Amino acid sequence: MSGACVIGVDLGGTKLLAGVVDADLRVHHRTQRLVPHADTAALLDSVCQAVEEARVAARAPIVAVGFGIACLMDDRRGVAATSVHLPIADLPFADVMRERLGLPVQVDNDANAAMLVEWRAGAARGATDAVLLTIGTGIGGGLVVGGRLARGSIGAGPELGHMVIDEHGPPCPGGCPGRGCLEAFVSGEAIGRAGTQAALDRPDSGLGRVLASGRAVTGPLVTELAWDGDPVARAVLETSGRHLGVGITSLVNIFNPSVVVVGGGVIAAGDMLLEPARAVVAQRALWPARDVVEIVPAHFAEEAGMLGAATMALEAAGLRSVASPLPAERRA
Ligand SMILES: [Zn+2]
Repeated sequence: MSGACVIGVDLGGTKLLAGVVDADLRVHHRTQRLVPHADTAALLDSVCQAVEEARVAARAPIVAVGFGIACLMDDRRGVAATSVHLPIADLPFADVMRERLGLPVQVDNDANAAMLVEWRAGAARGATDAVLLTIGTGIGGGLVVGGRLARGSIGAGPELGHMVIDEHGPPCPGGCPGRGCLEAFVSGEAIGRAGTQAALDRPDSGLGRVLASGRAVTGPLVTELAWDGDPVARAVLETSGRHLGVGITSLVNIFNPSVVVVGGGVIAAGDMLLEPARAVVAQRALWPARDVVEIVPAHFAEEAGMLGAATMALEAAGLRSVASPLPAERRA
C-alpha cells in the first residue's frame, strides 16, 4: 500500500468499528470492540486504543481521523450535546481527540456520516435530494437537500427517527420526550418487542417455540426466523415495514427525494421490510413525488458509518474531491 490513509471510526451505542481507509474507500484494516459505558474516561481510552491499534496495523501514513458518533451534535459549542447511549454529553469530543491522537479530527453524527458516503459513492450517488434512515438500536437520519448535506441550524438534525407517526403512540425510548416516533415502532428493539408479543400470542409458531425455550426474542432473531420461513416472524416484519412506509411517506411528501436509502442492522431483513414500506408509499404519498422515489438498501450496509467518517476525514485532508462542500465549520 502506498498512498496516505485515514482512520474512520463508527462509535455506536454498543460497538465501535475503526477502519484504515484509502482515498478510494478501500478498507485495509478493521478493528472492532464493545463500547465501555462505565464512564467518559474509560470510553475515551477505549476509542484511543482502537485508533492506535489501527494506526499500528496500517502500512501507510495516517493523515487524519473521522468519527461518526451516535449522538446529537451542537455546532455552537463544538460538543456532543446529548447521547442516549454514550457518556459523552457536553464533551468537546473533536478537541479532546485532536489533542490525544495528535492528528486532524473530524466529528459528526453517525447517520450524517453514513449519508455522506452513500451520497458520494453509494446508493444515493448523483442525487441532489436524498434521505437516509439507518435502523439499528434506534433510528438515525441523514438528508441531502438541494445538493447539500442538511444538518440543521446548529448541526442537531436531522433526527428522522423522531418523526411522529402516531400522536398517541408509545413513549419514545431513550432520552426523547416524544411519543409515537418512528423509532418507537421500527427500531431493532421495537421489532424485538413486537416479536416477543407475537411469540406470546402464537406459542405454536417458530417465534413462540424460541421464547418457550428461554431465549430472548430480539430484532435479529425475528429476521432470522423470517428468512427461515416462519409466517409469524414474517408478519412482524410486514407490520414494521408498513410503519416504516408511513414514515417514509412523510419524508417523500416533504423532501421529494429521488432516493430513500435504508441501512443499519435491521436492513438484514431486506425486501421483507422494504416491500411493505414501498407499498404504503405507493398508496399514500403525494403524486408525482411518489413516482420518482426509489426505496433501496444502503450500498455500504453496516460499514456506512465507518466509511462515512473516513470520507469526512479524506475530504478535509484533500484526499478526495468535495463535489458539494461540507459547511466550513465541519472541515476545520
Ligand atoms: Zn422520539
